[in-house]
Amino acid sequence: MLKSVFFWIGFSIPLTTTGNLGMSHARTPLIAGNWKMYKKIGEGVDLVRQLTPQVAGVSKAEIVVCPTFTALQAVGQAVQGTNIALGAQNCYLKAEGAFTGEISPQMLLDAGCTWTIIGHSERRQIFHENDKLLNQKLRFALESGLKVMFCIGETLEERENGNMDDILERQVHEGLSGLNEADFGRLAIAYEPVWAIGTGVTATPEQAEDAHAFVRGLIGEHFHQAIAEALRIQYGGSVKPDNAAELIAKQNVDGFLVGGASLKADSFAAIVKAGAGQ
Ligand code: PEP
Repeated sequence: MLKSVFFWIGFSIPLTTTGNLGMSHARTPLIAGNWKMYKKIGEGVDLVRQLTPQVAGVSKAEIVVCPTFTALQAVGQAVQGTNIALGAQNCYLKAEGAFTGEISPQMLLDAGCTWTIIGHSERRQIFHENDKLLNQKLRFALESGLKVMFCIGETLEERENGNMDDILERQVHEGLSGLNEADFGRLAIAYEPVWAIGTGVTATPEQAEDAHAFVRGLIGEHFHQAIAEALRIQYGGSVKPDNAAELIAKQNVDGFLVGGASLKADSFAAIVKAGAGQ
């Protein structure tokens, strides 16, 4: 009883930082471009120079671009004073030290980032990052002051074997373990079914809605209902200008994490506008 009162009273932070209850969409859509290992510095700067005027009028969505590490600072400078924020694609769980090849949240903040992605399926699959490591990375990034898009999602085999719910539950439970209510104000979850990433196969709006509602339910169960209601859950997996509107129309879809289609200003701008309902 005491615990629930505490959660409820303390809950003003997530609601005011991520929610905008006056809008048609209950939560401000978060639309981010994951550039993966594409775009050299000049190409990244060119991309945001083309993107900036196209999305300048967008007020009903939060926009983030996540370039490669080498392009962060230059792209960050190019988006300064615009409605586009800078994010990284990954970071380590220490501020500094003998960790060859890694980068810290402090260094990302120094380069101008306010966001980072953690737990992308390519990190999980290619670089063998497991739930425990991702949880450590997530907690340290949040503690360091970054906002985080935390990716979860099942493979095709897991879905076809009927294990999707268990996989999502494990990723949520282990991945978000130890987070407090204030942490949730700086967190978004990206539901990205692995079978839809970079394949051209998009989840149907109904499949996305089912998974998002399930994940929101898990957050309510493991943490608190009000936290679950305020949390933004992005969809990722072959989002394109022509499927963005039907996906965002779903009640529990609160934005997108976009890979391929974020590499061209025109297609990313079209997704941002569809996501914002503008
Ligand atoms: C991604 O990289 O997070 C992603 C969803 O990629 P794509 O949009 O290309 O499927």
